[in-house]
Amino acid sequence: EVYVLRLGHRVSRDKRISTHVALTARAFGAKGIYFSVYDENVFSSVRGVVDRWGGDFLIESVEWRKFLREFDGLKVHLTMYGIPLTEKLDVIRKSERVLVVVGSEKVPPEVYEMCDMNISIGNQPHSEVAALAVFLDRLLDKTFRMKFDDAKIEVIPCEKGKKVVEKP
Ligand code: SAM
Repeated sequence: EVYVLRLGHRVSRDKRISTHVALTARAFGAKGIYFSVYDENVFSSVRGVVDRWGGDFLIESVEWRKFLREFDGLKVHLTMYGIPLTEKLDVIRKSERVLVVVGSEKVPPEVYEMCDMNISIGNQPHSEVAALAVFLDRLLDKTFRMKFDDAKIEVIPCEKGKKVVEKP
């Protein structure tokens, strides 16, 4: 099981990217996301997606220091300064519960110490959304097989245009 911890959301400014972090977590196979900041906008749009597109993805706000300290499982911080994911994938795969930590602006230095691993997705600066997507895809390899229970709406893949089925 993989969970995501999103640190340091700036209300209003980070609304869109935080929503994308959460939707990426869900779509790429994580079980849930914890936010260090509660933003009504983000929580309601993610819950709206879960309601329509299915599954039981969890979204919660937490006091991040306490949560990170007490999390029972492997804590992996994604940072461009870390060890390349490809070098640690086998070790991470052995863990039944993983918490992936992603930042927004500057991540507090203690996060590097509190986590078991600091892992990079390449050593160039990019985005928490990209970093999370690559991490989950490499670790879980579920992206193209995701199915959600109780979905009210589902895409039928097609060459052109949009095909969706709405379930009563
Ligand atoms: N400049 C900030 C710092 O040094 O802490 C990071 C800003 S970056 C826009 C936001 C988040 O994206 C980071 O906290 C990290 O989780 C993730 N990220 C960005 N580039 C990354 C990379 N190359 N590898 C892993 N994670 C990355």
